Amino acid sequence: MNATLQIPLDIPNIRLLSSRNGERGELILEVESHLNTTKCRHCGKAIIEFHGYDRPIQLRHLPIFERVVLIEIRPKRYRCRHCEGDPTTTQKLDWYDPNSPHTRAFERWLLKMLANSTVIDVTRRCEIGYDAVEGVLNRWIKTQVQWSDFKHLHTLGIDEISLKKGHKHYVAIITTLDDDDHPQILAVLSDRLKETVVNFLNGIPEHLKASVRRVCSDMHEGYAHAIKETLPHAELVIDRFHVAHYYHREVDQFRKQALADLKETVTPETYQACKGTMWLFRRHYWSLTGEQLQQLATLLLLSPPLQQAWLLRHELTLWFEQQQTKTEALQKLQHWKEKVRLSGLTCFDKFINLLATWQDGITNYFNDRHTSGFVEGLNNKLKVIKRRCYGLFDPKRLTDSA
Ligand SMILES: [Zn+2]
Repeated sequence: MNATLQIPLDIPNIRLLSSRNGERGELILEVESHLNTTKCRHCGKAIIEFHGYDRPIQLRHLPIFERVVLIEIRPKRYRCRHCEGDPTTTQKLDWYDPNSPHTRAFERWLLKMLANSTVIDVTRRCEIGYDAVEGVLNRWIKTQVQWSDFKHLHTLGIDEISLKKGHKHYVAIITTLDDDDHPQILAVLSDRLKETVVNFLNGIPEHLKASVRRVCSDMHEGYAHAIKETLPHAELVIDRFHVAHYYHREVDQFRKQALADLKETVTPETYQACKGTMWLFRRHYWSLTGEQLQQLATLLLLSPPLQQAWLLRHELTLWFEQQQTKTEALQKLQHWKEKVRLSGLTCFDKFINLLATWQDGITNYFNDRHTSGFVEGLNNKLKVIKRRCYGLFDPKRLTDSA
């Protein structure tokens, strides 16, 4: 069978001339611009006298079926008869920057990945070097936003990326959601300082500024203050995954401590078995198989406080998954805090302190969360697994299957 697929390249005004495989398995697509004009770099007039082709350049483009794609183009050159000496100018095309080894579409794609990940992660997943990623960030820091491309900015997102190399430690990526809820890159800020964010937000044209309803960010005071100052009518929504990351880390610290305590009281074999459950402990119980749950039970049955912390951690996750109003969410959170207090556990202390500052922003998530089929389905799944999970701590069940 020899099936052929048509894939749109999403690049305007080009013609595909040929395609071939590169030495490293990449797909090289040779294209030509079919625009027949450019602006003279001296006088700015439109010029149409074709002078010749430059040497071919290769630009990294969006992958096709996870294959690296390079667009190869020989830029066209035009001659100006208005200027003295008849100088020539290379044709400028708006889908790539002559100073970048990537198409703009590729850079936007990369930035979107970065907004939800780390640089190291993205270098691996996209088969791209660290310096190339930094190059993209630096180019975008200097890029002016084309505000006319946006009709509204109902939702803004601020994500920060930490850089291990170079002089900067953090850059911030500003995104907005389009009408289909797909993130679009607005800008990359050179750092995450309050002044930098304020400057950027103040630079948004008034009519777009007025359209901002909510800004999603992590728990960084600089952002919160910048938003309050420049967009007083907008709601701050704390990204739930940052919140989850925080309490997961705290509970994980507690697991380490509980494990160290167990070392003194159990046999070396049991200790090794408990130690081996680190990944199972970190995961949500609904993603564990029955066998994995039993492995984990070895640890949890030996340490009742850890079992309680593990359940309370899951309650927070379920709390986020529930369809509820902000008021309901606040009530349930209060109830959860009370349970923690009664348990005598201290591993949630830092998180509860964090809530004192960020509770409002965290629960704003429930104001306009998007209901999706995925979440609905998950809720049903949870009910079933919750029942199964409680069976886990039934000693009879464990002896039955042993
Ligand atoms: Zn000219």
